[in-house]
Amino acid sequence: MSDCKKYKTLLIGLMDGELSPEEIHDVNKHLVKCELCRNEYDALSSAGMEIEKVTFAEPSEAELNRLWKAPYSRWTKNSGLLMILIGWLTLIVYAVVEALRDSQEPLFSRLAVAAVIIGFLVLLVNVLRERIITYKNDPYKEVER
Ligand SMILES: [Zn+2]
Repeated sequence: MSDCKKYKTLLIGLMDGELSPEEIHDVNKHLVKCELCRNEYDALSSAGMEIEKVTFAEPSEAELNRLWKAPYSRWTKNSGLLMILIGWLTLIVYAVVEALRDSQEPLFSRLAVAAVIIGFLVLLVNVLRERIITYKNDPYKEVER
């Protein structure tokens, strides 16, 4: 049947829910009498189910927004920040230990390490101060009581 080629495209449209009611009716009529296309449709359906399962697992954008606004995701954001700070601190401590252990280390590199530490402390104080201000104005703080 020469129509089958045309119906194959329509079958994909049917799977994606893109067909008009007339087209759906047309495809159904063809499926009833054409075994070839019925098999094609079955193959597409099972493949489509797999795809649907995957997309179903993905939260919708609204869901993501809701999660992002939920109090615990604030905690997630804060803990993310904390992890960056801890990681940073570890690197600095490592640099300091390395610089102190190696007495051959030239003065400028010790000064560089000192500058990094001071810079880090200044940033840390700033971040903490901002965090405290944010926390004071945090509307969710009341909710948790
Ligand atoms: Zn057919």
